[in-house]
Amino acid sequence: MNLVFLGPPGAGKGTIASEAKSTFDIPHISTGDLFRSNIKGGTELGKQVQAILASGDLVPDSVTIAMVEQRLGEADAQKGFILDGFPRTIAQADALEGMRKVDAVINFVLDREQIVARLSGRRVCKSTGRTYHVLYNPPKVEGIDDETGEALIQREDDKPEAILNRLNVYEAQTEPLIAYYRAKNLLIDIDASPSPEVVLASLVKALGK
Ligand code: ADP
Ligand code: ADP
Repeated sequence: MNLVFLGPPGAGKGTIASEAKSTFDIPHISTGDLFRSNIKGGTELGKQVQAILASGDLVPDSVTIAMVEQRLGEADAQKGFILDGFPRTIAQADALEGMRKVDAVINFVLDREQIVARLSGRRVCKSTGRTYHVLYNPPKVEGIDDETGEALIQREDDKPEAILNRLNVYEAQTEPLIAYYRAKNLLIDIDASPSPEVVLASLVKALGK
């Protein structure tokens, strides 16, 4: 099954994808995670995109599309995939059409107030990418990753100025994809406001699995 997770930053796409990948036995491909691992590894791509991610702007389509095309060519993605955070522009969606057939696009619906609350309380473990929330999903020990014992950090782009920019970028560049995929009859709206367990259950139900 080839799935796209669409929705504003902070809607819970990554949280649900990290559960759904075992439910459906397909890899979770997050473009944000791919960029962050390049930044961490100090690659050429990482150097090119570091400042862009910190500001909350989008990485140019050509760079993003090339990275996704390569990732979808890997062996584990042949049986299906969850694309989380891609496409984010119409040009990216058109490019994806030329790469693989998409079976469904899950639109995570959440109001702005909850988006901001989720983003501003998000904390991550830098080495594993594991995600927490100070109120909604706190670690066992405050500020510490449950498994590695490392200190949790707040992403640069989860600070207030960048959050505002990302929401504007989402509305201007990504939201038009809702109509794009609805017109293709691929869109499934999911209420992203309940607990992750409930959101996952409604996803499974909507996909008829
Ligand atoms: P996205 O991948 O869409 O940007 P994340 O999965 O990183 O979103 O979630 C954003 C923040 O909200 C994280 O701190 C996460 O722990 C928290 N979160 C995710 N899903 C839920 C949920 N259903 N209810 C409450 N908090 C959630
Ligand atoms: P969130 O789910 O919180 O919005 P992501 O981890 O998906 O954050 O993305 C982080 C950043 O990575 C984005 O703000 C953007 O700079 C870059 N990025 C991720 N996916 C894309 C994409 N498809 N196109 C362009 N830039 C992207």
